[in-house]
Amino acid sequence: MQGVGCRPYIYRLAMELGLAGMVRNDVQGVTIEVQGSDAVLDVFVTRLCNQTQADYPALMEVIECGQESIDVVAGDKMFRIIESESDGSPVSQVTPDCAMCSACLNEMADTDDFRYRYPFINCTHCGPRYSIVKTIPYDRPNTAMGAFEMCPKCRGQYEDVQDRRFHAQPVACPDCGPTIRLTDNQGKPIESDSDKAMSHCAAVLKKGGIAAIKGIGGFHLAVDATNEQAVQELRKRKRRDAKPFAVMAASIKTIRKYAIVDEVCERFLKSPESPIVLLDKKENGAIAPSVAFGTNRFGFMLCYAPLHHLLFAENGIDVLVMTSANLSDEPLICHNEQALDELGDIADVFLMHDRDIYRQLDDSVVHEVNGQAAFLRRARGYVPTPIYRDKPAQKEIFAAGPDLKNTFCFVKGDQYLMSEHIGDLVDGRVYRHYVKSVEHLRNLFKVSPEVVVCDLHPGYLATHFAEQFNDVKLLRVQHHWAHIASVLADANEPGPVIGLVADGTGYGTDGAIWGCECLIASLTEFTRFGHLAYYALAGGDKASKEAIRPIVGLLGSDGVKEYADILDHIEPDADKIKLIATQIEKGLNTVQTSSMGRLFDAVSALLGLGAVNRFEAELPMALEAMIQDGINDVYPVELTEQEGGFHLQYTPVIRGVLVDINAGIDKSIIAAKFHNTVCEGLLAMALQARIATKINDVALSGGVFCNRYLANRMIHRLQEEQFGVLWKKSIPVNDGGIALGQAAIAAAMIEK
Ligand SMILES: [Zn+2]
Ligand SMILES: [Zn+2]
Ligand SMILES: [Zn+2]
Repeated sequence: MQGVGCRPYIYRLAMELGLAGMVRNDVQGVTIEVQGSDAVLDVFVTRLCNQTQADYPALMEVIECGQESIDVVAGDKMFRIIESESDGSPVSQVTPDCAMCSACLNEMADTDDFRYRYPFINCTHCGPRYSIVKTIPYDRPNTAMGAFEMCPKCRGQYEDVQDRRFHAQPVACPDCGPTIRLTDNQGKPIESDSDKAMSHCAAVLKKGGIAAIKGIGGFHLAVDATNEQAVQELRKRKRRDAKPFAVMAASIKTIRKYAIVDEVCERFLKSPESPIVLLDKKENGAIAPSVAFGTNRFGFMLCYAPLHHLLFAENGIDVLVMTSANLSDEPLICHNEQALDELGDIADVFLMHDRDIYRQLDDSVVHEVNGQAAFLRRARGYVPTPIYRDKPAQKEIFAAGPDLKNTFCFVKGDQYLMSEHIGDLVDGRVYRHYVKSVEHLRNLFKVSPEVVVCDLHPGYLATHFAEQFNDVKLLRVQHHWAHIASVLADANEPGPVIGLVADGTGYGTDGAIWGCECLIASLTEFTRFGHLAYYALAGGDKASKEAIRPIVGLLGSDGVKEYADILDHIEPDADKIKLIATQIEKGLNTVQTSSMGRLFDAVSALLGLGAVNRFEAELPMALEAMIQDGINDVYPVELTEQEGGFHLQYTPVIRGVLVDINAGIDKSIIAAKFHNTVCEGLLAMALQARIATKINDVALSGGVFCNRYLANRMIHRLQEEQFGVLWKKSIPVNDGGIALGQAAIAAAMIEK
């Protein structure tokens, strides 16, 4: 990778060991020629690959190291860095944005350093990358830093191979680099001095005001996270009435005041990628209740830009809500004028700078599953690092991705380049952003796809987009097959595996809406071994919001009558319930579905957690939050063999939940029993599939597995039954990972 200090590191190591030779970047990665005694060469290789050394570049990672002997060039006494003509493959030139490193943090605090308190300090080991790249090669003129001419001091460091800033493209100082200013909501300057701007902004926040803050990947909206009134005001102005807000703090110690941080989560928080990490709330913490209603977790991140560190060093700034600056679910705002234009009614002050952002990037979100990081959203800090596969693809591929939580993927050789989180394409602005992003990445990485792959859903916007490519082979892939294929691609396995999917919706090969499936899948084919028995779902788009719709479908007309008093709490309008029942009876605007997501909605609503998902998975998140630990009881699991595979029956679990509600059983126990039953139901299908196919590996995927209790328990139960479990490491388990599965299937199908 370029721009991570790899070549200078190798240079210094070779010089230290007295080795002659050269290092250069090329399409393969980095090529090094060294000559010296066997013993010293051994030391060289050992140290080169030892990531634990103190002076090892933080962002450098040795993925693979091969060696061979070549003829000695007589008289070669020096070690040189060769500037190669083609500076590596396009993909390896652009690295992700990286949180501020400790060396820069120390310099920024050093009163004698010429970058003392400079909000744009960075070096080869940290700073913005992908977000500021306009085009390649990755040189300063091709980045947002092209607008700033280096002063002699910065240039000296930039050109000194022994310096930490050797070839750090965004290098800058107060004399030559970007500057900060604070304005009011009309763009009228308040402070143009960086220190005064920080303290003024901090004062506004302390008083409960709202600040728009330009960071690495775009603007955040910030308020004091301990000020309930301020948080409510932000919700009101942002028109985001329920979805949890992310919170930023300057240290793990601060986060520990409000949430539980174990060793694993501490590692995620402190990583150079610096994602938002979902952490269990502590009781009686001082975070305002409106920050994250209805869930037992907070999304915390540490300061990652120098500007954040300076702001948080101001008196009285402890924890700030830092939420993506956009209106509801539109794309993140990243330009100054656009921010003033669109956020003028929301923010009181604007803390802005004059370094442009070329790629808007949301903060990434992870949580811990089975002791590892599991992605919920992959963006800043991770993109555009490709996912490497053992086998290079024979042709270049574009995978269009799904319509919800869209990401897309380009394939070039063994590199699978997943885009950052784009969002829900049904929003016109998000769709336009998608089209532009595809074009941008295609140019940036110089990909000319010969194969395009999309979802089977005829109505998906991403599918329509894919259909517009000329002179390409177009493949359509079933949504849940892509889910399982993404796990295979991530694990570098070809399959076949038993694929267990717990998901919201995906268009099935029979025209029904699938969502809880047991597939036997490889990268070239799949069969549907079993699924949740179909139920009727009326109301199109409303079906994923209003829980009464799946409830009526699951209970049937007799059940609706029998449990009328419980349903009355969810939908007091009895006529509406009747209307839904009639719709189902007549098959009007009604689909058959095996959706697991809607089953979760239904049970959440029956337990009194609300009637509507105001944001995606609000009800299931509340259901997970109320689970009582240590419950192992389950409702009956009924798996019936029918034509076309095994059907997992939902009636026993729904009836069980209702009987328990009427018996006054504690709802936290019912919630646990329901989750446990879902695990046992999926497990029962996997056991049947193992008997039928002798396959022992199970891949898990689908948005419902963002539920941490369910994911942990499922993995555990499968392991207890001696299954091998494949669980995604580098991409989200939800629809944010679909494009990787589509791409891997396309690559495998070309070969077939
Ligand atoms: Zn640094
Ligand atoms: Zn300078
Ligand atoms: Zn899905």
